[in-house]
Amino acid sequence: MLQERDKKVIWHPFTQGKSSLPPIPIKRAVGSYIYDENEKQYIDLVSSWWTNLHGHSHPEIAAAISKQANELAHIMFAECTHEPAVKLCELLKSVLPGSLSRFFFSDNGSTSVEVAVKIAYQFWSNQGQDKRLFLSFQGGYHGDTFGAMSVGFSSFHETFRPFFFNTLNIPFPETWIGDTMREEKEAKALAALKISLEVNGQNIAAFILEPLVQGASGMRMCSPEFVKKAIEMARSYNILIIYDEVMTGFGRTGSMFAMDQIGIFPDLVCLSKGLTGGCLPLALTVATEKIYEAFLSDDYKTAFLHGHTYYANPIACSASIASFDILMRPSTQDNIKRIQQIHERRLSEINLPKSRVCGTIAAFHLESASKYKAKFLEAGLLLRPLGDSLYILPPYSTAEIMDEVYDKLHDIIMSSPN
Ligand SMILES: *Cc1c(COP(=O)(O)O)cnc(C)c1O
Repeated sequence: MLQERDKKVIWHPFTQGKSSLPPIPIKRAVGSYIYDENEKQYIDLVSSWWTNLHGHSHPEIAAAISKQANELAHIMFAECTHEPAVKLCELLKSVLPGSLSRFFFSDNGSTSVEVAVKIAYQFWSNQGQDKRLFLSFQGGYHGDTFGAMSVGFSSFHETFRPFFFNTLNIPFPETWIGDTMREEKEAKALAALKISLEVNGQNIAAFILEPLVQGASGMRMCSPEFVKKAIEMARSYNILIIYDEVMTGFGRTGSMFAMDQIGIFPDLVCLSKGLTGGCLPLALTVATEKIYEAFLSDDYKTAFLHGHTYYANPIACSASIASFDILMRPSTQDNIKRIQQIHERRLSEINLPKSRVCGTIAAFHLESASKYKAKFLEAGLLLRPLGDSLYILPPYSTAEIMDEVYDKLHDIIMSSPN
């Protein structure tokens, strides 16, 4: 049995091997559905860790991957370049705000953050300034490598705290539909930010944040107006801004990027999860031309001396180009809007505390949410609550069956957990 073989050789992520339930053996996945060994069907409402945009085994992405694998699977990217990498960056440039136009590749969200953090520090050090502090929000999550852990706040990272570099953190004014305290929380957060800036502004290299939605800490949302004010305040102290759009990019929040709703653009943006439509690992750290220029000189030492072996893997880039093409279609954009509308309508019916929606992401407070997990699975819903938050983050192709999903969800939530 696969589960038994798995138990002998696999070390699962974020999992206590001694007490965890055996993993579900998944055989295949098509569209919104995942199938286990016994052909039991589950709807993927987590989009396979927030990566899948267009459904599983999308024929166009699969074809692009196959074609590229037969043509050029991989080549080192110093000394060499290739069409899929250049084309992907040209396409993304066409939808990013004009200032974000230099693309640095890596292969996962954490490395895209490491790259952004290192670029931010070196941007200043290339100009003879040693700015060692970073600013971030409480509850932010930016990945599991050391730089990403240092600017993040996951309880998973406690063991490694002695190694972290210094980060100043400010409260995150999470809000929801009908929240009467929003303005008060935002004013408090802005006041805390102001103090941090007044005391340490000169020594802060960059402010890193997940714009609009903090993913890993429980799909916590804040208003675009608040982010705008916070960024404006930080900018007035000449601090670089890093948006971690690893989760929020590529239509997830209803706009192409979360930053499009904020209207103020960063110096660096991190992209990963949805970049290949959920098929292959790939990430980008996109910088403004101004940042890039600070690394140009006659001295090799001012260059950004960083790079990963599978930099700009051609197969992953080709998957991204295919995914981008599907994303830009009116039918996909329509599905994104439909999912948001269904989320809003059905959450108001379910009427649980702290209901919130941002584009295709819906979440609400559900006491002891993980106790419902077995019932969700039984009903064919693959969900993964974060603490007392239950969230629904489906592939965009799921629009057609979202009402059916909510019917099942509603029934389960109205019964008691067991
Ligand atoms: C998932 C995530 C990361 C880390 O990405 P990995 O690919 O898991 O390393 C970083 N930032 C945000 C906002 C994320 O959601």
